[in-house]
Amino acid sequence: MAKATSKKTKNAKKEATDQSHIEARALTPQTGAALFEDARSRLEEVFQALDTPHDARSRLMQPAASLQVSVPVRMDDGSLQAFPAWRVQYDISLGPAKGGVRFHPDVNQHEVTTLSFWMAVKCAVVGLPFGGGKGGVQVDPKQLSSLERERLARGYIRAIADIMGPDRDIPAPDMNTDAEVMGWMIDEYENIKRVRAPAAITGKPIPLGGSQGRVEATGHGALTVLDLWAEQENRKPEETTVAVQGFGNAAYHFARQAAERGYKVVAVSDSSGGIYKEEGLDIDAAKKAKQKHGELAKCRQGKRIKGDELLALEVDVLALAAMENQVTGDNVGDVAAGMVLEIANGPVTSDADAALEKRGIDVLPDVLANTGGVIVSYFEWLQNRAGQAWSEEDVNQRLDEKLEREARQVLERARDEKITYRQAAYRQGIERITEALLARGNCQDCR
Ligand code: NDP
Repeated sequence: MAKATSKKTKNAKKEATDQSHIEARALTPQTGAALFEDARSRLEEVFQALDTPHDARSRLMQPAASLQVSVPVRMDDGSLQAFPAWRVQYDISLGPAKGGVRFHPDVNQHEVTTLSFWMAVKCAVVGLPFGGGKGGVQVDPKQLSSLERERLARGYIRAIADIMGPDRDIPAPDMNTDAEVMGWMIDEYENIKRVRAPAAITGKPIPLGGSQGRVEATGHGALTVLDLWAEQENRKPEETTVAVQGFGNAAYHFARQAAERGYKVVAVSDSSGGIYKEEGLDIDAAKKAKQKHGELAKCRQGKRIKGDELLALEVDVLALAAMENQVTGDNVGDVAAGMVLEIANGPVTSDADAALEKRGIDVLPDVLANTGGVIVSYFEWLQNRAGQAWSEEDVNQRLDEKLEREARQVLERARDEKITYRQAAYRQGIERITEALLARGNCQDCR
């Protein structure tokens, strides 16, 4: 009895701590409405430049649909914890909503909404027949056991199953969710619907219909965009130094492939800090150290640096591949790179973006630079629907063709219209979404 009471007290305390943790995060401006407002201010600029009809503006200033749920999870110690979670479908004019699911303690409705907006723009920039969606669960996945993560992933799908599906909304991996998590999710979805529906989720393990090349695709695509920029600048990879913030899926595969191509990857970091080596890092050795110790700060290669030191390195390319709001009005003055490559979503705030433009520092924007993942997700969806399995070579060749074509258009538009790469990419994306919206009819001010 005494034991039961003390467990109850312990759980009550845990709940109280969890609650205060959630409230504290909700009050942080950068994790709140500011992120979405920042995204919308960029959108308004594009509307003005394109003279977008009012009907389309009004539709695109807010998400088409937004679902908030609570996902109860039975923890290993027998207690029940309910995690707040969201799925947002920002726009579905071009096709079903497409976008990843994030597990992170900072996830909130504004963040998921903003990410879903960026997905809508991104899919349109590279001409995919998808709208934009995103999901997230407010949880620290590092505190969960593998079984708890599985229960959470399955619980999330039970909560959103009614609004997803191959023709409605197709989730995929994002921060802290990977092919294993997608495997649990598709299994749960197929059990609920009592059908085999592999095209309902992308980024799955290969035996469940996952695509060859999906895991590496975001890094691969970012490298393709970097290569095009380097070609335009008459710059050779061997003469180009690169620092990479992040060392997860997108960052690691980008860093490894960039080093293989000949770029000098001199620094990488994770949430524990980073490492720097002037002659270039051995990326696979860094990966092994990260796997062994759990953090890069314990890697013996090169010199240890702090996360903000990486952002201030004098390199040719600063690749941001961790999370949003990393270069802001407060630290943009420290950036000493020649070009910023946004592999993460929204790593540069709009005020920082304007400051970089003033200083003549190019930014290759997220809505172009990180599209490799969603392009191969589209290929996975196509393969699933056609009952096919393409080789890795085939996938990569199609990825290169598609991305090179769309990225060249963005780069050329920036040059011809004398605008930034971000402005050019947004104009390409918003034009396409607007055309689809208007083609659906009922536009009052564009007749
Ligand atoms: P992962 O969870 O695989 O990796 C995230 C990485 O960022 C981890 O190495 C993490 O460190 C690191 N990190 C977190 N905070 C910091 C920080 N303050 N400083 C330095 N590093 C930090 O996520 P992904 O690689 O999948 O995603 C990264 C970004 O790329 C996100 O913005 C995501 O939306 C975007 N993206 C990802 C795609 C994909 O296919 N994976 C597709 C398109 C965009 P630690 O290991 O210590 O936790």
